Amino acid sequence: MKIAILVNESTMDRCIGKGCFNAFFKRIDAFRDYGPEVELMGFTHVGGDLEHKIEKLINNGVEVVHLSTCARAKYPDYEGLAHRLSEHFKVVGYTHGSEKGKSRDAIHLDKTHSVHNDNSL
Ligand code: SF4
Repeated sequence: MKIAILVNESTMDRCIGKGCFNAFFKRIDAFRDYGPEVELMGFTHVGGDLEHKIEKLINNGVEVVHLSTCARAKYPDYEGLAHRLSEHFKVVGYTHGSEKGKSRDAIHLDKTHSVHNDNSL
């Protein structure tokens, strides 16, 4: 299982990612259900050329994207971004701390991309 973490852009002005990495390496909080085989393939912010980043995550076989706890708290269109990401990945909407945020709870989305068969009825 390959995963990645996307965090809030402006938070990267000051944060070194300790909370995210601590939760990942200790397999706690949003990472508690992973075993030793999980691979962290990327850690980046949601700014810049996000479409290019998404393409790279796809090409590297990432299956699950964690939107960070700071993205949940600070990114204005957190839910819209989560839905956009769910077109390609399962989305877990936090990284460290509680699933319940001060202003909103963590979103969880399965990958929505699916094959539709219009002749199925
Ligand atoms: S979720 Fe926490 S540790 Fe991770 S980037 Fe945001 S502020 Fe830093």
